[in-house]
Amino acid sequence: CGIVGYVGPATPSNRPLDVAMEGLARLEYRGYDSAGVALVTPDGLATAKRAGKLANLRGALEENPLPGATAAIGHTRWATHGAPTDVNAHPHVSEDGRLAVIHNGIIENFVALKNELLADGVTFTSETDTEVVAHLLAKTLNGTGDLTAAMLAVTARLEGAFTLLAVHADEPGTVVGARRNSPLVVGLGEGENFLGSDVAAFISSTKEAMEVDQDQVVTLSADGVRVVDAQGTEVHPRRFTVDWDA
Ligand code: GLU
Repeated sequence: CGIVGYVGPATPSNRPLDVAMEGLARLEYRGYDSAGVALVTPDGLATAKRAGKLANLRGALEENPLPGATAAIGHTRWATHGAPTDVNAHPHVSEDGRLAVIHNGIIENFVALKNELLADGVTFTSETDTEVVAHLLAKTLNGTGDLTAAMLAVTARLEGAFTLLAVHADEPGTVVGARRNSPLVVGLGEGENFLGSDVAAFISSTKEAMEVDQDQVVTLSADGVRVVDAQGTEVHPRRFTVDWDA
């Protein structure tokens, strides 16, 4: 399984999708049963996801091409909760269709969180543990309007292992990521930046990287990367140069 994130210049282009698809191809070696992408476009979110190999997702994208975007997230899934179906593939989207989440790992306390959301009247569409994160983020955002703050508040409630990326239609130049007991690395480009569950996700674009540490939250934009700890205090992670050839 694997995760890719990308933010580029404010002008929508096909590069965000290309970067996500190439990153997923480079992460294929890790194994997976489904794949999906979410793009932030001028008209909101656009998503595509399919059970099976990346070729199935490519086929879906050929049938229904997605518009140019400024940001993208891409996911390969190794199912832990819910069968490997199109519906259970990531991304998972909030009820208003404006927020998308991808996740590698397991949310151990998802049943309690799901029951709380069901009692609130939220409708679930998948059988995954991950979907609670999409709904919790959307609910928290309604209070704050700040995706990074929402991610901090939501991850404080999660138990288990996760690499999480989220995008929102209202923040077309941002991807927010978080991690616990599961890896997340930043790739530093020129006028564009990357996230990956492993450097393979962005190695063909940049070798300049930065580790995201346990329980940190990263806010990625085209011209900057901001990392905070669980208390919301800014931190400055170690930078390094990846020393292998793409
Ligand atoms: N637990 C999540 C699911 O089953 C994510 C699995 C993964 O790591 O890909 O959908």
